[in-house]
Amino acid sequence: MSTIKLHDKYFEPYISKEIVQKVTSNLVNEIANDCKDEVPIFIGILNGSFMFVADFIREYPRACEVSFVKMASYEGIQSTGEVNELVGINEDLTGRTVVILEDIIDTGNTLQKIYEIFKDKNVGKLKIATLFFKPDVFKKELPIDFIGLSIPDEFIVGYGLDYDNLGRNIDSIYKITTPNMTNIVL
Ligand code: 5GP
Repeated sequence: MSTIKLHDKYFEPYISKEIVQKVTSNLVNEIANDCKDEVPIFIGILNGSFMFVADFIREYPRACEVSFVKMASYEGIQSTGEVNELVGINEDLTGRTVVILEDIIDTGNTLQKIYEIFKDKNVGKLKIATLFFKPDVFKKELPIDFIGLSIPDEFIVGYGLDYDNLGRNIDSIYKITTPNMTNIVL
């Protein structure tokens, strides 16, 4: 595996597909254990979580429901600090156990918005799960119930995560790098 170029930026291999799968399986086990007596509704945050949610759901060992909400907080590699809900939830969540599935939690702006949206929905229990977490950047006092993997403050792509809409289809994780001109794949 070598460095790849997406638009103007270079990315190098960082977290293998096998490790991503293992981290996802661990989250499935932890959450299934926590939701033993319930039929949870999993809510994926689009676009970045689509691959994670698809793999997660396939491994989930009991009855569950799945839905998606679409939000955006990033342009390029810089957080805009503004989070917009683009597509909402239509299901009646009254009394339900809702588990949010996030691809990555960075500053926590998106997470804060999620808490605001769900606090008016009379949910029975609200739990937050994220595949990746950047503890050095997280600025909020909000609970995160399930964390797959904590990573340093580095911009990553792959497994659903994009750089300017590219890279979502890579099945492992790459991180941004300065180019090494000897092994670039154009
Ligand atoms: P937050 O609101 O926590 O700052 O950021 C959450 C959203 O920003 C994520 O759902 C994701 O879309 C995007 N994001 C944060 N960090 C990264 C990263 O390292 N790579 C990519 N591709 N997106 C990120």
